[in-house]
Amino acid sequence: MTAPVGRPPLGVFPQPDVVPYIARWSSENRPSGVVVVKGLGIAYADEGAYERDDLGVLWKRIGWSPGKGRPEFGQVHFLRQRRAMRKRLCQVCGGPSDRTSEGTLWLVGEDPDGPELWKPGYVTTHPPLCVPCAVTSVGACPHLRKRYVALRVRAFAPAGVHGVLYRPGGLFPVAYGADGVTFESPHIGWVLASQLIMELQEFTVVDLEAEHAAYLRRT
Ligand SMILES: [Zn+2]
Repeated sequence: MTAPVGRPPLGVFPQPDVVPYIARWSSENRPSGVVVVKGLGIAYADEGAYERDDLGVLWKRIGWSPGKGRPEFGQVHFLRQRRAMRKRLCQVCGGPSDRTSEGTLWLVGEDPDGPELWKPGYVTTHPPLCVPCAVTSVGACPHLRKRYVALRVRAFAPAGVHGVLYRPGGLFPVAYGADGVTFESPHIGWVLASQLIMELQEFTVVDLEAEHAAYLRRT
């Protein structure tokens, strides 16, 4: 008997055990909304009370139904990413990220731009992690295992957002690109945000194996 047409053989798309907290699920639709010019920036034509963050930045709309449908790996849920950053939640399990006197645990990939990267002021859209999830993430991904750097971050602050950039148009503003925009930028009113950017201001590069051993001793 042959397999039904269109169905991949088993094993081609293995179901990973863990769906990251910040991953988007197929049930979480993304209504676009009508974007209009209002004052010195953009607004939704039918804007509700919770469409902006506390700095007044407008965010992309998205449903909230994790666990329903299929996980869309590699696609980030805008508001869970923001929540994880702001509340210092682990990006994988959604529990508290790991904090010691040395700082909060972050795992960052090597940047193609080279070693100049690891300086204070480095910005990332990846939320922190707890130790078990950091170890699992690195173990599960051979690419990451060789190319990650674990950091203990003592000082960090939201620096801006990544999103779609608009400029004034005729009747409606015109989307012309996607980029990161700092909160101080004059363009901040013209971005439709999809991820919060964190600036890592003071940190130490640490050995994840040693962090794991210390974690096991204290728990
Ligand atoms: Zn975790």
